[in-house]
Amino acid sequence: MRFISRTPLIPIMAVVALVGACSTPSPEAASPATDTVAVAPPAPAPVPARPVHWGYGEEAGPASWGSLSPVYALCGNGKGQSPIALTSGTATSGPSWSFDYRTTRLAVAHHEHVENLVDNGHTIQVTVDEGSTLTLNGTAYTLKQFHVHTPSEHTIDGKNMPMEVHLVHQDSAGNFAVVGVLVKEGAANANFAKLVANLPAAKGDTVAVAGEQLDLTMHLPAREKAYHYVGSLTTPPCSENVQWLVLQDMITLSKDQIQAFSSRIGPNNRPTQPLNTRTVSSVGLSGSMR
Ligand SMILES: [Zn+2]
Repeated sequence: MRFISRTPLIPIMAVVALVGACSTPSPEAASPATDTVAVAPPAPAPVPARPVHWGYGEEAGPASWGSLSPVYALCGNGKGQSPIALTSGTATSGPSWSFDYRTTRLAVAHHEHVENLVDNGHTIQVTVDEGSTLTLNGTAYTLKQFHVHTPSEHTIDGKNMPMEVHLVHQDSAGNFAVVGVLVKEGAANANFAKLVANLPAAKGDTVAVAGEQLDLTMHLPAREKAYHYVGSLTTPPCSENVQWLVLQDMITLSKDQIQAFSSRIGPNNRPTQPLNTRTVSSVGLSGSMR
């Protein structure tokens, strides 16, 4: 059964800009704590009453995000931003195989159903039930939502893939870990067919699918290996210190399935950002992903 609710687009966009995605409030966006010291605190930087609209076109596009609002400053001057250009040869052997990453464990639980599908104007996002977790370097991160970008945001050897899925997790302290899964064109994906069949018809729509179960492992390829680096949210406010795992194997969707997403949301990919002093490691995952 399918329920559609329509909310005015502008408030939805405002909420999304605030919570970022691509979608949870960043520490930077939080209100400052009340100052109990008698001395008057320095005047805080002006923060807009409501989040500033951003997008992917020429106006308010990625190149200007950092100047749209003080809250988005990291989008312009951050040194640890995402996405990045990945190179297939550099992370497969050698010193990047550090002790820390060999022992990294990724565990994704299955508990899941589609709660709702939201086309928030920037992406198709699925909010998931609590219970799916990722464990990385001993820290448990809870899966909050996943969403898609068309084409992909990360590149492999300079090439964008037609689509990228982001599974967004947070630990108990609010730190982010995002798993990126690149999508190539090929065989139809049976699990994604459930999403395609229930995509909202218009921006701002929410589709709640009652009684439909979605297996979250649908995102995961068989090989348990990933690129790991520390980056940022790829949408305003571009908060940093995000643990990124981009799986090295891709999943396939059919041309029509990819088109179902890209015709609604694409292009919604931020260009790749400078690596600067960061390194990309190859991470072998212990345990099973599926
Ligand atoms: Zn994303």
